[in-house]
Amino acid sequence: MAANYKRNVQALPDVVSAEGAIHEPKEVGAGPTGVRVAMQHALDEMGLVRSLKVLNQVNQKDGFDCPGCAWPDPEDRSALGEYCENGAKAVATEATQARVTPEFFRVWSVEALSKKDEYWLGKRGRLTHPMVLRSGSSHYEPIAWDDAFRLIGDELQALDTPDEAVFYASGRTSNEAAFLYQLLARRFGTNNLPDCSNMCHESSGYGLKQVIGVGKGTVTLADFEKAEVIFVVGQNPGTNHPRMLGTLQKAKRAGATIVHVNPLPETGLRRFKHPQEVRGWLGTGTRLADLFLQVRINGDVALFKGIMKALLERDDADDVLANAFIEEKTTGFEAFSEDLRQTPWSSILDASGISKAEIEATAELVAKHERLIICWAMGLTQHVNGVANVQTMVNLLLMRGALGKPGAGVCPVRGHSNVQGDRTVGINPRPSAVFLDRLGEAFGFAPPRRHGLDTVEAIQAMHAGEAKVFISMGGNFLSATPDTAYTAEALQRCRLTVQISTKLNRSHAVTGQQALILPCLGRTESDEQASGLQFVSVENSMGIVHNSRGSLSPASEHLRSEPAIVAGMARATLGDASGIHWDEMVAGYDHIREKIEAVIPGFDNYNQRVREPDGFYLPNPVRDDQQFNTKTGRAHFTVHAIPKHDLPEGAFLMMTVRSHDQYNTTIYGLDDRYRGIKGKRRVVMLHPTDMTEAGLRKGEEVDLVSVYDGVERIAPRFTVVPFSLPRRSAATYFPEANVLVPVNHVAKGSNTPASKSVVIWLRRRPA
Ligand code: SF4
Repeated sequence: MAANYKRNVQALPDVVSAEGAIHEPKEVGAGPTGVRVAMQHALDEMGLVRSLKVLNQVNQKDGFDCPGCAWPDPEDRSALGEYCENGAKAVATEATQARVTPEFFRVWSVEALSKKDEYWLGKRGRLTHPMVLRSGSSHYEPIAWDDAFRLIGDELQALDTPDEAVFYASGRTSNEAAFLYQLLARRFGTNNLPDCSNMCHESSGYGLKQVIGVGKGTVTLADFEKAEVIFVVGQNPGTNHPRMLGTLQKAKRAGATIVHVNPLPETGLRRFKHPQEVRGWLGTGTRLADLFLQVRINGDVALFKGIMKALLERDDADDVLANAFIEEKTTGFEAFSEDLRQTPWSSILDASGISKAEIEATAELVAKHERLIICWAMGLTQHVNGVANVQTMVNLLLMRGALGKPGAGVCPVRGHSNVQGDRTVGINPRPSAVFLDRLGEAFGFAPPRRHGLDTVEAIQAMHAGEAKVFISMGGNFLSATPDTAYTAEALQRCRLTVQISTKLNRSHAVTGQQALILPCLGRTESDEQASGLQFVSVENSMGIVHNSRGSLSPASEHLRSEPAIVAGMARATLGDASGIHWDEMVAGYDHIREKIEAVIPGFDNYNQRVREPDGFYLPNPVRDDQQFNTKTGRAHFTVHAIPKHDLPEGAFLMMTVRSHDQYNTTIYGLDDRYRGIKGKRRVVMLHPTDMTEAGLRKGEEVDLVSVYDGVERIAPRFTVVPFSLPRRSAATYFPEANVLVPVNHVAKGSNTPASKSVVIWLRRRPA
């Protein structure tokens, strides 16, 4: 093949026609059907014996942590199995028997692979060998590990400045691997450490840190059974955090009232059948949500301002606010309450789409109870006003003094098993000076002080040719990020892209001029190092750090652990001059944990405490002492305007969501069982009246179009599906609809892509 061969790689996969079907949404989540579907996935990928072995270990005290979401494990683990349907799918996908070998890459060129979608690529199985795509070549070929590390070292050393390199991390990365990874980047000289939380809960961390002094949730599992009212806002736990339904059921049985706030009536929160209860098989299940507020897309500030305004008006009559708490622990109440009084009900009702009666009923509920928990996910964070959404939730809790006490607090539910842990151990483009001081002290070097690039900034820098080497620890950057065509161009402008992965995905097909695939161990697999078998650790949504040890034989003898891969890259890039004992730390991960303990507060006696069956809680001043480590030492009330979405003629406000057969960009199957959609992923859910007004039929194919800054973006061939959602709203799945989300359409402050409120049009296709 000519050296200057130009690869004709597609940024978007070919659109495969899918017959599929559209049924009525399900009324009940989990139950026997969930078990059947989970077992089918397990048997298809792993076979019976392997399934029994692996599923008996997931989330158990001597087992491995589920590579799915970050919902915590109860102290009393179920011997029947401590996992949900989607946890079983995540485990089955990682522990699959299918393999992607060098022979596979000999047959499939990157051009051919770039035509394939995530579902097809993900089903090829586990990567077995390090592979290289040389400049001008059409196919990956095998490469020795040392040669791969040398290529990385040479390319990094060839850069004009360390800031031309980007070290991206996905939330599956363990604490030990993440800490070494950030150390490599900083010893090399850059803070370019973007991660997947930039695209999900960055608005939560950023917003909470400002108003309560900690960027994490402040509740424990036990708090749910003490709570009187639980709000679940902009979150679909039935699909994205399924074991949370069991926790909500327990809370419900303990007397809690559950308020579901979402544009979509998510099945899991309607009724839940616990698959480990007889009545979960024979009965009709537990009704979870007592109140469903079908808010307009991005209508949450309006809705919660309405609830707070009603509460304030109620307080004028009888004392319902936590005045002593407000007096003693908060600041900004005057401006906040004045803004509420000045906010007309008309704008609240119009922007929220919720009736005054429903709002007042919710306010009444809040007025009667003080143990309130507010849970949320991307439905709040992925908007231009994502930070304002998060801080508005805090305002309500402050009015009732519902922070830092049993049964009360904030609960941003993390979607990736260790995304919170990665941030805690240093995966952060904007590290604190204290962290850098302690890191420099522990390793005897001067870390870079210039803040680095987050995910959106990294895409823009690569597109501008300012970043030339992109390394990805796990994840699927191309499909997880917005503006797919633009991001594809950005990656292809790099001199080198490196993917440290377990399975194939589209980021392996859309690459830099040269590319490397470095296959790593998964969570389910045993990790043997010089000092013996190792375990890693992760931090869940509630700040519990616990161990995870796999026991399966690795999918290939050529795999390496994430820490070992980082050490290999570090040796080749930094040589012995770094003065850092990478091999010693990889030989026994206790050495890594000793360093984490030395650098990061809260990890005292790390190696001893992480061996405890339930791990340990990291300090949380709000949860532990109702202490607000903000600039003022008080919690802050904040004032936020109601966002305006004046839709142009014929336009819709689109939000991207996951189907029930998906985990981030990993597509387990083509069904979205809870929403009644079968065998289809390119769907656009619309209100039936909007369909009628637009003359659209159920099942008709349309193109979706967004226009931002004069740039038209098209996502072709989406099937119209009638669904219950507010007027002029549209729901689609990512990654298919990410091509419509402009890279610079982001949340103020947190820079999180605003994938939940994108203006689109539907363009009819020629008959
Ligand atoms: S709830 Fe989340 S962590 Fe738990 S088994 Fe399911 S996917 Fe895994």
